[in-house]
Amino acid sequence: MTVRPFLHHARTSSTMIRDLQALPGRVLRKCLSSAARIRAARRVGWPSGRRVASITFDDAPRSAATAGAQVLAEMQYAATYYVCLGLLGKGAADDPVLDQGRLETLVAQGHEIGCHTYSHLDLARTGSEELLADLERNRERAHRLGLPALESFAYPYGSLTPRAQALVAPHFRTARSTWIGLNAPRFDALALRAVPLMRREGLHVALREIERWQRDGGWLVLYTHEVTERPGQFGCTPDELALVCRRLSDSGGEVQTVGQVARGLAVT
Ligand SMILES: [Zn+2]
Repeated sequence: MTVRPFLHHARTSSTMIRDLQALPGRVLRKCLSSAARIRAARRVGWPSGRRVASITFDDAPRSAATAGAQVLAEMQYAATYYVCLGLLGKGAADDPVLDQGRLETLVAQGHEIGCHTYSHLDLARTGSEELLADLERNRERAHRLGLPALESFAYPYGSLTPRAQALVAPHFRTARSTWIGLNAPRFDALALRAVPLMRREGLHVALREIERWQRDGGWLVLYTHEVTERPGQFGCTPDELALVCRRLSDSGGEVQTVGQVARGLAVT
């Protein structure tokens, strides 16, 4: 079976605009004013000239924890794996979400485990109580598994709404979006920008943003999913990941997990 029910289908802005346009004017105004009231931003100032990169994997298919982690080990890099702990061992038969054993191996290797909700919820379509209960389930499972506290969050499907942002704000230092870009000179730590290392966008997008990062500085957060010789549109090959790692290394910038960078951020 090759269906990947948990993978990302980022809602495009045109879809969201269409959704909004479908609302009656009165309802739309109410929605927008509520959204504005509950928007929770965490503004951060980034030191001029500082260059740090983070490598992240969403959903954490097994291949990201095996082939992906092997590439990182050769560079002595640690990454952030955003995992739905309710989905361990589930998903595509050929490359399911990693299991508990591989999760423990990642932690032992120095990688960070981040939260991607317990059951890969689309936050734009989930009620507030359901979302908070789901986050709590993930936190409890992490505790039972003996994982370090989950400090970093990534929005499943890239579904970042003002309400979702406000709900995750008290629980995490950072929340990563799928909006493409670097984080600098000032940014919102609850809407971290990211750079795809994925077939869908093409390797050139990651290489272009690395060049920009090399020139301008900032916090570059790369993200992908599976790491296999024949990835789907949301993954990459081991060679592509290795090439990106070499470019990061050649640039002389630091590579740290999202949690490591976040602990040093100056929230303003
Ligand atoms: Zn995901």
